[in-house]
Amino acid sequence: MVGQRSYYQFSIRRFQNKLSYVELVQRTCITVKPGIDFVSRSGSGDTTFQRFFICFQASAYGFEVGCRPMLFLDETHIKEHRVQGVILAVSALNGNNELFNVAYSITDSETYDNWVWFLENLKKALLSDRRMAFLLDRGKGLKEAVPDIFPIDHHGYRFQHIMQNFNDQCVGKYAAPFKKLLRKILQRIAYAVTEQEYQDAMMAMELNYADAKEWVLQNDVDHWSHARFLGQRFGELLAESFNNWIHDARSLPILQMVDKIRVQMMEMAAKRKIDAALWDTPYCPKVQKIIEKNLQERRSLAICHSDGIKFEVIKSMKTYAVDLHLQTCSCGHWQLVKIPCKHACAAIGSNNEAVSQYDSAFYSTEVYKAAYERNIQPIPTFDMPDPASTIRCFHQATDNKKVAWKTEKEENTFKRRSRSCVYLFKVQTNRSQPKNL
Ligand SMILES: [Zn+2]
Repeated sequence: MVGQRSYYQFSIRRFQNKLSYVELVQRTCITVKPGIDFVSRSGSGDTTFQRFFICFQASAYGFEVGCRPMLFLDETHIKEHRVQGVILAVSALNGNNELFNVAYSITDSETYDNWVWFLENLKKALLSDRRMAFLLDRGKGLKEAVPDIFPIDHHGYRFQHIMQNFNDQCVGKYAAPFKKLLRKILQRIAYAVTEQEYQDAMMAMELNYADAKEWVLQNDVDHWSHARFLGQRFGELLAESFNNWIHDARSLPILQMVDKIRVQMMEMAAKRKIDAALWDTPYCPKVQKIIEKNLQERRSLAICHSDGIKFEVIKSMKTYAVDLHLQTCSCGHWQLVKIPCKHACAAIGSNNEAVSQYDSAFYSTEVYKAAYERNIQPIPTFDMPDPASTIRCFHQATDNKKVAWKTEKEENTFKRRSRSCVYLFKVQTNRSQPKNL
């Protein structure tokens, strides 16, 4: 493991004697799993920071009681010029389809080992072992790490990533109009809800470009087409990215960045809690709109009863089969997103029942509020000792690159800028190359 480290390390002398940020977080935010990895450098007496994982108790609890069992895994590069590392993050969606961060991590690079470490920590932090669906990019090591750590859970791929690969590997050489057509067909394959829609889209792909159909079959279509995905991901193919949400924080030094993300999470949760207190609908606003639209559109549908549980719903020349007991519609959308489609709403209405009896509780205002019931606490830093001289930071070479020590100009102590942030790093002037890294 030591030999595989790359990009950056922090040598933290006498770290254990200092009040660390991790300890502060543990004390004040009651983290479920504050994980931090150090490795010893033989002969130097130093410990070296390798990676950091944090999941606040409020987040683990909020995910458990207030979010669907679906997680998005993200990776992004740190933009602070002194450090080359990555942020790994896992997020969910709350009942209003907004991003809900569950945990995040700072590490040196995106590798299989780091993802395994991250996912093992996540597994310990989650409050139950309910069946999960993961949505991810096919990044370095991630594709392999998820099934290794969560072998019985389902994992699907983000459609943006699939489309990018399709452009790069399959249709990039063709003229724009043809490329556009193939992209549209690929989109049809991804968003096909029923097997028939999937087969029709695959046929269209084959007729236009047989090699593209082969590309689809060879690129894990079972993990990104709705019609083929076996898990429950509530119709999500394009998750909002945690990386976009923390965009500004990525340019900060590491501990400031970690703390800035915590503050962003804390403020976001507080704002949502206040907003939700004013909602007077049984469902979160975005879902309430969908339900109201479906209720409106059901008026144009004709209904044929079968036995009080099964119905035929007729729209123009098409007929849809609804089963209230199984909560399915042959259009596929009810079982996909767990919100009754317009056909289901028509059947429910003709049975004189309320749609609320058939919606997923995860979309309710009550469950939304539960997601933010517990708070991420403020962290006071005014009494922190100044450990600035105890930490040495350097870039290490990866592969064929030489070790890149900092210039004199870069070797400045980071200053305290506000009481809300934590500053631990001082770059030392020792330019000798460490051994045994
Ligand atoms: Zn339907």
